[in-house]
Amino acid sequence: MAITPELQHTVGKTAGFGGTSLHTGEKVSLKLHPAPADHGIKFKRKDLQDEPTIDAKIDNLKTVERATTLGEGAVRVHTVEHVLSALSAMDVDNAIVEMDANEPPIGDGSAQPYVDLIKKAGVTAQEQPRKFFDVREPMHVESKTGALLVLLPDETFRISCTQAGPNNRFAQFLSTEITPAIFEREIAPARTFVYYEDVQPLIEKNLIKGGSLENAIVVRGEAVLSKEPLRFSDEFVRHKILDIIGDLALVGRRIRGHVVAVKPGHAVNAELARELAREQARRSAMSAPRAVPIGNGGLDTDEVMQILPHRYPFLMVDRVIGFEGENKITAVKSITINEPFFQGHFPGHPVMPGVMQVEAMAQVASLLLFKLAKTTSRIGYFMSADSVKFRKPVLPGDTMFIHAELTKSRGERLAKAKCHCVVNDAVVSEGELMFTFLDK
Ligand SMILES: [Zn+2]
Repeated sequence: MAITPELQHTVGKTAGFGGTSLHTGEKVSLKLHPAPADHGIKFKRKDLQDEPTIDAKIDNLKTVERATTLGEGAVRVHTVEHVLSALSAMDVDNAIVEMDANEPPIGDGSAQPYVDLIKKAGVTAQEQPRKFFDVREPMHVESKTGALLVLLPDETFRISCTQAGPNNRFAQFLSTEITPAIFEREIAPARTFVYYEDVQPLIEKNLIKGGSLENAIVVRGEAVLSKEPLRFSDEFVRHKILDIIGDLALVGRRIRGHVVAVKPGHAVNAELARELAREQARRSAMSAPRAVPIGNGGLDTDEVMQILPHRYPFLMVDRVIGFEGENKITAVKSITINEPFFQGHFPGHPVMPGVMQVEAMAQVASLLLFKLAKTTSRIGYFMSADSVKFRKPVLPGDTMFIHAELTKSRGERLAKAKCHCVVNDAVVSEGELMFTFLDK
């Protein structure tokens, strides 16, 4: 299946399979249908009047005990994490998951049947661009039971997971990038596993009628009970990764980041998904343009262009907000998707190049130097940059504030400026710039 990573995808045609549901033990059939762009994943209850649908969104998460349950109004779908994991990892953004019961077939307790189903249906590209969640700064969630999820910036979607049972039995670790090929080979076949002490009360209460050694591995003491031998020596941690992918699919965006998970479970996975959805909402709200005052000793675009020789597409200052004494300046640049560098940096994944931020710092520092030199017969040339750090990606819609402070000026020939760029009140880049003055 050829995937164009920057575009949305759906299934090529309807495909289905049947089986038994875990909790009720009833027969259920499930069908995957293609869906238009921006539709997302929706579950459809074919067995109910009016065939209601439920969005696979974190807002619809109802319970996370043992499995992930979604609901809207009185309608519920249970144990959705394995089908969601397969859809997400196999690059399906939009689909209808139609079922004639409240739970998908449990299959063999892995995501293998869903990978097979998706391959049967095919995956096709749509015209609209995919929505991503780019991790800009480390995030983490923790639970009282010792579960910990950390999310770090990364260009790909990666998971590093440590799983450990009671008394640290069956401690396992695996770190991998998640791509369709890796998921299919390394993650999808890993089956659900349960600890006997946890399921015994459920068996007694008859709450897992469809549960058997055919669809779960049961761990009793040091013994591993299953119909089929272990598929991987570290099958448990692989299944934990499978569940993380399924639960994070509820964010509704492709995550570009590295999940570091210690003893994860549905509750803490869901909490991270909620955190991401909140951060996304905050980002969308923050991308509204900020009103920047003009006047008060600042410089408007015309005045900036009278001083700086730079012109489109290389003028990286929209306006100077103000000077503080002789040595400090703050300027602003609105970053829009129309910046020419976004066309190639990168197609489908626009990130402002770090060197353009350094250029912005250099131009703003030059404006400060000009004020200091109070002459237009000389121009400051950018000589070197030290201690440059890029801390967070700058994206279209961001308003970048550029700060420069003159730390050293030797005579009128050399000058040093400490600079940093700020987006949403966080430093995105910094550096120490050196200039020399030459006659025009
Ligand atoms: Zn699972």
